[in-house]
Amino acid sequence: MPLHIETPLIESSSLGRPGLSVWLKLEALQPPGSFKIRGIGHACERHAEAGKRRFVSSSGGNAGLAVAYAGRRLGLPVTVVVPETTSARARALIEAEGAELRVHGAAWHEANALALSLVDGETAFLHPFDDPLLWEGHASLIDEALRQGPGFDAVVLSVGGGGLLSGVVEGRRRNGLETCPVFAVETEGAASLARSVEAGRRVTLETISTVATSLAAREVCEQAFALTQSHDIRPVLVGDREALRACERFLDDHRILVEPACGAALAAVSDGAADLSAFRSVLVVVCGGAVATIDTIRAASAALDEAA
Ligand SMILES: *Cc1c(COP(=O)(O)O)cnc(C)c1O
Repeated sequence: MPLHIETPLIESSSLGRPGLSVWLKLEALQPPGSFKIRGIGHACERHAEAGKRRFVSSSGGNAGLAVAYAGRRLGLPVTVVVPETTSARARALIEAEGAELRVHGAAWHEANALALSLVDGETAFLHPFDDPLLWEGHASLIDEALRQGPGFDAVVLSVGGGGLLSGVVEGRRRNGLETCPVFAVETEGAASLARSVEAGRRVTLETISTVATSLAAREVCEQAFALTQSHDIRPVLVGDREALRACERFLDDHRILVEPACGAALAAVSDGAADLSAFRSVLVVVCGGAVATIDTIRAASAALDEAA
């Protein structure tokens, strides 16, 4: 039994339009709140089989939450090291899964250094996106969607560090869908993939500024960039405001709350930033996210309105 669940695939009448069916893969319904449990659950199971006795993560977001959940399910202890900037909600969610939460450092790289120092022969470190085991696990999302639905001629998803993208491309490959394009959506303040594709090489952003905290990777993993050089991957940018609005609309239309990181992919479809005019049936990965609440989403919208 894998640690993730088979999520529903539903057609969205609010995002669809004449000539275009929009299918939602509802990863927001995974028990830890996002698609991350697919890859992390798969990796944790492989590590446990290989004799690892504990797991370590330095993610204060959905990856850390997925590791905590996987450890609880497998009966293995988990330590999540997060920086002081991690929200009270994220800390509480990780602790509620029974993981040991250690708060260390003002910035993520300090927490990450401590997490890495805890790794030994019996301890596996789970990276949030840069790990072939994760990509292999994420790919199950495409296997499932193809079993459940009518088939797709394009995929829309969000990109942070590029683990989801790498997994979806792997899923396409192993299902013989090589030519199906992937719209890779980022917010403007976290455009590490789009900037890299523009430059023709992997770029590290100086700064990140976005409400979509789960997309805040200063650089994408090498694999994600390499895939853009050999596959039909189309970078798309949306604004923070559009991502936030898409979250509110999705809550109204589908009664599910997602993070702005996921709102970005939804906004790319609803606001037309992804040019879907050539396609008839599009799969949107509703990647989810457990860290936002409707109050934080509305507060972020209000703050943007005030700044404008
Ligand atoms: C991690 C995450 C992403 C981005 O995934 P990457 O594999 O880092 O590209 C997008 N949305 C949510 C909700 C996430 O948790």
